[in-house]
Amino acid sequence: MTYQAEASALVPGLGEDALAASNNAAWTARYGQALMNTFGSPQRVLVRGEGCYVWDADGRRYLDLLGGLAVNSLGHAHPLLVSTVTAQLATLGHVSNFFASAPQIALAERLLDLVGAPGRGTLSSRGRGSNGRVFFTNSGTEANEAAFKIARRTGRPNVVATEGGFHGRTMGALALTGKPAIRQPFEPLPAGVTFVPYGDVEALEKAVDGDTAAVFLEPVQGEGGVVPAPAGYLAAAREITERAGTLLVLDEIQTGIGRCGDWFAHTAEGIVPDVVTVAKGLGGGFPIGACIGLGRAADLLGPGAHGTTFGGNPVAAAAGLAVLHAIERDGLLENVRTVGAHLRAGVLALGHPLVRGVRGRGLLLGIELAAPRAAEVLGAALGAGFIVNAVRPDTIRLAPPLILDTAQADEFLAALPAVLDAVGTAPKETR
Ligand SMILES: *Cc1c(COP(=O)(O)O)cnc(C)c1O
Repeated sequence: MTYQAEASALVPGLGEDALAASNNAAWTARYGQALMNTFGSPQRVLVRGEGCYVWDADGRRYLDLLGGLAVNSLGHAHPLLVSTVTAQLATLGHVSNFFASAPQIALAERLLDLVGAPGRGTLSSRGRGSNGRVFFTNSGTEANEAAFKIARRTGRPNVVATEGGFHGRTMGALALTGKPAIRQPFEPLPAGVTFVPYGDVEALEKAVDGDTAAVFLEPVQGEGGVVPAPAGYLAAAREITERAGTLLVLDEIQTGIGRCGDWFAHTAEGIVPDVVTVAKGLGGGFPIGACIGLGRAADLLGPGAHGTTFGGNPVAAAAGLAVLHAIERDGLLENVRTVGAHLRAGVLALGHPLVRGVRGRGLLLGIELAAPRAAEVLGAALGAGFIVNAVRPDTIRLAPPLILDTAQADEFLAALPAVLDAVGTAPKETR
């Protein structure tokens, strides 16, 4: 037996007929017996993806308008990502961080170039302390943990974050998360965090003083319901933090890597933060995150201050290089703007009574409903062959692959009226 045949035989779903005897119901039952119940029952069991489509264990096809939660930047099974990851894995899959690998270094340099690290652009300036440095992680929450530790290393005790903000589920990132329902069950958490209303410049100004190590902000609150910062808010935050000698940490884990139509969502405001965290879209589905420190924030973590076994793994770094390359080569930033605007206009043009508006930027969109029926809309959309997300009881989130084209967007726009009609605006019956 070849290794390929052996792999197909051992991993369910890889072989031609490995799933033939099973289906969504059977796999879902097994899931319920074997997995911790942190996510509730899965909507479907998915077996295969190609471009913007995925297939479930019953053979049904879906247009994926969630993209693995803003992760599958290049869609599913993108040939460049597959080739890059496969080639790197076959060359050098993992080394400890006692050693370096070329993909990791190249990806760090690429990220610094994209974020516009001050003083970059000339080879001779590379590697000097004041420009920028990257710490690689495997996830978003870990990127924020690194940022939190950078904040602690300023010697100042306090951190300011925002109500409705989301920064991750590990204890440090959770302490920064402005959603009491997910934070409070795990208290006590790292101390010194206060929360201010998102978008309120005056409140931020009042909260930040000489004891504030850092302010953590999302350019668009993603998990909070796709809530963009009001125009000028990030610039004001930059001014306030600069004046107080406080680090401005932008959590671009959901908004970065092209999602909002620029490499980073904050670029539109023309500011330079001290720390940027990214993850979700960076690996196109391969787990990788990064904490990017600029200026003095680049040097606050020294030898022994932090670590990771997997972070910056050569395969993950190669995936990141492939994603960034494809976004640039295929003009995906432009595509995000065009298709995002098309989707937004198309949803509004329906004039459906259940749609109150559309929030968001680029291909991170929140369809605001006139009634708290997002769960039902999600169910109806799934039934019609579309994967969306109910980010809030009254908001449907779309975060499709950056390669989504207008024809695919039109498939959704054509189906949406019937999906919304099926739900209706009448008060929900008690269940
Ligand atoms: C998803 C997300 C995180 C957490 O990322 P994980 O990879 O799930 O740990 C943090 N911040 C923001 C803004 C996110 O959207």
